[in-house]
Amino acid sequence: MRRWVPDGTGRPPVPGGFLQSMNARADIVVVGAGVQGASLAFHLAQAGLPPLVLDRTDVTNATGRSSGLVRMHYDLPENAALAWRSLAYFQNWADMVGGHCGFTRTGFLQLVPAGLIPQLTANVAMQQDIGIATQLVTSAEVQRLAPDMNVDDIELAAFEPDSGYADPATTAASFLAAARGLGATVRANEPAVALVVDGDRIVGVRTAQRDIATPMVVLAAGAWSARLAAPIGLDLPIRAWVHDTAYIARPPDMGAFPTFIDFARAMYVRPEGAHLVLVGLEDGNPVMDSPDDVRRGAADFTDRVVERIVQRLPRLAEGGLQSSNYGVDGLTPDQQPIIGPASPHGPEGLWLDTGFSGTGFKTAPAVGAALARMIVDGPSASPELAVFGWDRFHGPRRIEPLHPYPPIWH
Ligand SMILES: Cc1cc2nc3c(=O)[nH]c(=O)nc-3n(C[C@H](O)[C@H](O)[C@H](O)COP(=O)(O)OP(=O)(O)OC[C@H]3O[C@@H](n4cnc5c(N)ncnc54)[C@H](O)[C@@H]3O)c2cc1C
Repeated sequence: MRRWVPDGTGRPPVPGGFLQSMNARADIVVVGAGVQGASLAFHLAQAGLPPLVLDRTDVTNATGRSSGLVRMHYDLPENAALAWRSLAYFQNWADMVGGHCGFTRTGFLQLVPAGLIPQLTANVAMQQDIGIATQLVTSAEVQRLAPDMNVDDIELAAFEPDSGYADPATTAASFLAAARGLGATVRANEPAVALVVDGDRIVGVRTAQRDIATPMVVLAAGAWSARLAAPIGLDLPIRAWVHDTAYIARPPDMGAFPTFIDFARAMYVRPEGAHLVLVGLEDGNPVMDSPDDVRRGAADFTDRVVERIVQRLPRLAEGGLQSSNYGVDGLTPDQQPIIGPASPHGPEGLWLDTGFSGTGFKTAPAVGAALARMIVDGPSASPELAVFGWDRFHGPRRIEPLHPYPPIWH
């Protein structure tokens, strides 16, 4: 696996030249300071292994643009459990992490078309078994929770009273601040330009500024991960998923409503404070090979979003589009993250924490805790992450929920 990596720094090639020119050391390096890298850094530091965290600082990163929905309704039990364990952080942020995460409890409704009611019913039962506060609600109950919602096509929905949304940038920033307080070093504007391997082991990271020797690297670079992994022979199936969101002004006398996902209209919606509504669509999100090719969101997004939100919340026709924005996340073929060691299908010492496929904000606290345990105590310390292992792309194993919904992004 020894290979020359052209990295544009003008420094001697790696690994031979790297080992001569290396001028820093770290016990472990986390590449990427989005919410996943930040959560991992905090939990590693808490476990006595404070990392060096590098970020190239990109304004379109997923965390900075995330809608921040915090809900537990999933078809895969492992995802529901990670979201549930993460909810405890969002609810008790000051005690568990320190600082703020901006959690706002709104309640959460999962709306489905009639054809998905069997899955909804089974998934609510699965989530209740985990311990999640969730229940089936009738159309009349949905109307009571959301007086301004058009519920004509809704027979049954799932309701989570404890869910809501948080502020993703603040969440990541307070994870990083807490990690620093526990001895981690965070370097913004220091992009990793190459991962360095010697034989079958990771030995370092080359950044734009310096060469850092380390026996462990965690790749948490979101949509940018595949590009860093490719030169060392890791073909991560991660593409750049571009997702638009819109803020719509809300008439002052419009009633309250919970955050909701609406499979029938392929959209999710949440209040943003008292005056705005945030909307994203599950279809029509462009997928590109490289995040660096992304210059804009979907061309027809604003027309589609306005048309659709007004069908579900007709009073928003009196509001108006306030703004729209887009962000980029790493999308895998099964829309599930890749978490765990790269070996045996990659070098020893490299860990993957990437490909969160448009749903990785709400689970970041529990994922970071579980992955830190895995890194410190070995893969068997976090069996709940096994399902997300990189090995699933090297054999017959697939992620298959018992009562699957269609893929959320289509
Ligand atoms: C618009 C939008 C809305 C979303 N809404 C929700 C939601 O409501 N709920 C939910 O749970 N999830 C949501 N998601 C998904 C969620 O935000 C992401 O899955 C999550 O933020 C991913 O975090 P991350 O740390 O893996 O990636 P990122 O936040 O993208 O962080 C990766 C970091 O790596 C850095 N980096 C890249 N290359 C390098 C390099 N070479 N060297 C050093 N650093 C590098 C980048 O600058 C970036 O900061 C949304 C995503 C988007 C885009």
